[in-house]
Amino acid sequence: MSRRRRIYEGKAKVLFEGPEPGTLVQYFKDDATAFNNQKRGVITGKGVLNNRISEYLMTRLGEIGVPTHFVRRLNMREQLIREVEIIPLEVVVRNVAAGSLSTRLGLEEGTQLPRSIIEFYYKADNLNDPMVSEEHITAFGWATPQEIDEIMQLALRVNDFLVGLFLGIGIRLVDFKVEFGRLWDNEQMRIVLADEISPDCCRLWDIDTNEKLDKDRFRRDLGGVAEAYQEVARRLGILPEGGPRDLKGPQTMQ
Ligand code: 5GP
Repeated sequence: MSRRRRIYEGKAKVLFEGPEPGTLVQYFKDDATAFNNQKRGVITGKGVLNNRISEYLMTRLGEIGVPTHFVRRLNMREQLIREVEIIPLEVVVRNVAAGSLSTRLGLEEGTQLPRSIIEFYYKADNLNDPMVSEEHITAFGWATPQEIDEIMQLALRVNDFLVGLFLGIGIRLVDFKVEFGRLWDNEQMRIVLADEISPDCCRLWDIDTNEKLDKDRFRRDLGGVAEAYQEVARRLGILPEGGPRDLKGPQTMQ
């Protein structure tokens, strides 16, 4: 039984103290929540798939020079990451109208946007993660203007790369949410990609059928949630070795 210190428990992940100073272990749960915790469920095998998918995407992004917190995958549900100071913003990049953008602006879901759009949301569950502007971000000191510029550049690079990567496997990247953190190397501070990139925080539609291969299947009660995540992993060529049999339910922690 693990005696690691639990640093933080979120809705879909747990962070434990890492083996060396400056590292953490990120554990992926099967728990799913939506609408700010009002809808809850368990998607068996989701944590295993998200661990793999996020490992794969963070590694590919690292290879093209996007700095990330990812170090290496440790096992089926855990990965070693660098400890960063999370910037309290959800950074959403959109290519196609869907979800809250469609609702807010009355755009039909599936409408191609004139260009990729970046939005910022303040990470605060008690406030329902409200959308905020750069003015709010700088006035309240969540990030500096220079950091916002860097975050936007990185977010667009991540988007350009992932749009192409997913297109190659017959998937349209409609939108996604990422988070960034500050990483110190001695006195030097860098902004790095943090959290995860997985079907939990992306909208992924089959290019031919528009079938949803992401968490909207859970949010909208469409069924086949685990199968959709498996399909994404399968197309990326990273379905766990033993196939779906490897996708055990939640394991006892601590
Ligand atoms: P929307 O604002 O349309 O609800 O979400 C835009 C994109 O960001 C979607 O891909 C959605 O999955 C992701 N997203 C927004 N907020 C959250 C969040 O709090 N958690 C997760 N996992 N994804 C989010």
